Amino acid sequence: MTTDCVFCRIVAGAEPATLVYEDERAIAFLDLHPVHAGHTLVVPRHHVTDLRECDADLAAHLFAVSARLAPVVTQKTDADGFNIWTAAGRAAGQTVFHLHLHVLPRFFGDVFGPRQPNSKPPEATRGELERVAARILAGE
Ligand SMILES: [Zn+2]
Repeated sequence: MTTDCVFCRIVAGAEPATLVYEDERAIAFLDLHPVHAGHTLVVPRHHVTDLRECDADLAAHLFAVSARLAPVVTQKTDADGFNIWTAAGRAAGQTVFHLHLHVLPRFFGDVFGPRQPNSKPPEATRGELERVAARILAGE
């Protein structure tokens, strides 16, 4: 256990949290600073910094747990929809460096969300897309 990690302390029962789900590999609890009521964090029991350190089986499990919880959270909070998202690294907005998936109820007209341009980004050329794809494919 990384004792300076608040989520590891929650997993160990050394820090209070309001759990809404748990199994042998993951727990889910309500975010202490909810964007909306029902904002839930799905967290692996063992310390993983972010998705880059997470094996595919655990990633699939965490997403499956999130996908099971999200419709329930949405219904029970009378939300209009939900987001499931994760941040990897400070540049992406990660502030707790123990992997977590946010299950975030959403409402028509709410203003929470990633910053984005006011207008639709310009269409990329096929050549630009193919250059980026070639770099991604070369990494496999
Ligand atoms: Zn941790």
